[in-house]
Amino acid sequence: MQDLPTIIAGGGIGGIATALGLARKGQPSIVLERAGEFGEIGAGIQIAPNAFHCFDLLGVGDEMRAKAVYIDKLRLMDALHGDEIASIPLDDAFRRRFKNPYAVIHRADLHAVLLQACRNSDLIELRTRHDVSGYQQDGSSVRVECEGDIAVTGRLLVAADGLHSQLRRQLVGDGAPRISGHTTYRSVIPTEQMPAELRWNAATLWAGPRCHIVHYPLKGWKLFNLVVTYHNDATTAVAGVPASKAEVYRGFEHIAARARQVIEIGSDWKRWVLCDRDPILDWVDGRVALLGDAAHPMLQYFAQGACMAMEDAVCLAHMLERHGNAVETALDSYQRQRRVRTARVQLDSRLIGEYIYHADGATAEVRNHVMAGLSPEQWYDRLEWLYAGTGLDD
Ligand SMILES: Cc1cc2nc3c(=O)[nH]c(=O)nc-3n(C[C@H](O)[C@H](O)[C@H](O)COP(=O)(O)OP(=O)(O)OC[C@H]3O[C@@H](n4cnc5c(N)ncnc54)[C@H](O)[C@@H]3O)c2cc1C
Repeated sequence: MQDLPTIIAGGGIGGIATALGLARKGQPSIVLERAGEFGEIGAGIQIAPNAFHCFDLLGVGDEMRAKAVYIDKLRLMDALHGDEIASIPLDDAFRRRFKNPYAVIHRADLHAVLLQACRNSDLIELRTRHDVSGYQQDGSSVRVECEGDIAVTGRLLVAADGLHSQLRRQLVGDGAPRISGHTTYRSVIPTEQMPAELRWNAATLWAGPRCHIVHYPLKGWKLFNLVVTYHNDATTAVAGVPASKAEVYRGFEHIAARARQVIEIGSDWKRWVLCDRDPILDWVDGRVALLGDAAHPMLQYFAQGACMAMEDAVCLAHMLERHGNAVETALDSYQRQRRVRTARVQLDSRLIGEYIYHADGATAEVRNHVMAGLSPEQWYDRLEWLYAGTGLDD
């Protein structure tokens, strides 16, 4: 049974990063993806230094650095008044402190770099149209069941099947994710359509009462990524549904015209209703472990969901190498290493949403007062626990 591959359910960022992490340790895997092809949605993603640490450990640091856009700062704007509240410089001092940059990248580029590295490895087999439905285990192997009477047997199973994980249903059984009531719309536009006065080399956040707007450049400055969110108490989880500009506009009528321009220039808006879960302590059942959003789905307000999934991948590969044939010990060590860090990001993401992104009245005044008063070093001190490493003890 020792020679059996690891089975990975889900070929998103977490799943293929796991395959790559295992291959770097000389361990074979099979990735089972439900969709007809591997890929990511056409939008941007922020990647903090902890993600770059992972890229290096996965052997794709140089390729990823070549595709990233290096922004100068994280900029916090008041969406009601239209003025800057604070900014965090991402300059040499930041890079020296965290030993890597903070950048933005097109999701398709990030996924493609990981996928190509998987394709270059003899140790990774990628299978599409495999809809994983459950598993059985006997203490030395795991039989992974897929729709259509297909079964694949492996040494262990990594469930990286995302927010609505089918495998989590069997492993944890805690029902559907929590619907936050926050609705997000995404659009990607050519840079020339972005108003010249907002073409900032920054990941910009306009924070307003029950709403916020994020924008940043992508693809060597050819594109701008727009992500706008409002808290409209939506009750149904949806992902990627087309939305009219009038619908998007409804959540932003109360903010400054300077910020509202972003809604006007966006096109082909798509809608998501955001979900997360309360943190849990047990993500492992014998030879089966959850990873990424399947384990710890979070709101996007810390911009860390994919970063955490890649950290999980690096940690899991490390533990499997360290513990050799003791798979169950390795998985237990993996969850012990990961659960507090990821739970902290899950909980902080909710708090950041409430007290920074969507604050109103006195709460917004406190936000502005506190955040405007922080020096770069004070910001860096607050981010040290997250950006300085990948959470691995050694
Ligand atoms: C609006 C928004 C903005 C975000 N911004 C950031 C950011 O800036 N930085 C950041 O780090 N994170 C960000 N995130 C979070 C990030 O996108 C996710 O945390 C990350 O993509 C999770 O990766 P994953 O591989 O765990 O899951 P997924 O990306 O969901 O991948 C799961 C994969 O499993 C497949 N699958 C599902 N079910 C099955 C099945 N039964 N059998 C086989 N395959 C299956 C799916 O098709 C998919 O390919 C953001 C999220 C949102 C919603």
